[in-house]
Amino acid sequence: MPAARRPLVAGNWKMNGMKHSGAELIAMADGYDAALKDKADLLICPPATLVALLAAETTGSGIAIGGQDCHAKASGAHTGDLSAEMLKDAGASFVIVGHSERRTDHCESDAVVRAKAEAAWRAGLTAVVCVGETRQEREGGSALAVVAAQVRGSVPAGASGANLVVAYEPVWAIGTGLVPTVGDVEEMHGEIRKVLAEALGEEAGKVRILYGGSVKPDNAPTLLKAADVDGALVGGASLKASDFLAIAKAYA
Ligand code: PEP
Repeated sequence: MPAARRPLVAGNWKMNGMKHSGAELIAMADGYDAALKDKADLLICPPATLVALLAAETTGSGIAIGGQDCHAKASGAHTGDLSAEMLKDAGASFVIVGHSERRTDHCESDAVVRAKAEAAWRAGLTAVVCVGETRQEREGGSALAVVAAQVRGSVPAGASGANLVVAYEPVWAIGTGLVPTVGDVEEMHGEIRKVLAEALGEEAGKVRILYGGSVKPDNAPTLLKAADVDGALVGGASLKASDFLAIAKAYA
């Protein structure tokens, strides 16, 4: 991996976690030793109810805290929603946008995801923009085209290595225990980098592209060492400090 890109191992807790889950995060912070800090960045995206608490509990640990979604607007009459500014105020430095569960459950289009990424930047957050094909699209041979279109539609102009992370998450691999072949991952990450380069030129070489979908301690060393893979977005295995640290240690 080029020196311009430091690996990032990110955890998405989804709708899991209570106040006592802070203990798991503190265990992660304890295990984030100097050797690992030297090699990789860690990020945990808990449910919004825990962002402020966990950001306070991990101050000084080096583990970043992020949100799982944000509204495109800064404030207003949007019951139940959260703005990027609110996440920033609570102590977040990243926000995931366009996760496939948001795209499916809340019908989020690429245009909506792009507006959310712009909102993240407005608030000073790094946007983790998720893309990925369905099983049908993979089997039908359109995975590369589908994901390329998602990147073109979801990444706003003005992206940089500092304000953007892209997460390639095949929908069929999320929470299923299925993972693509290393060849398929490398081909897709290469395609995403190519699409980013069309828009960003040389800056595309600084944008981290994560792989996500059933990353576990046993498959992490293979997946994370694949060409153009700059880290992982981890769901289920990020809930336990021992699993999450074992994944990150693929870099140590
Ligand atoms: C995710 O939801 O972003 C994810 C990758 O989940 P899992 O690791 O559980 O497949």
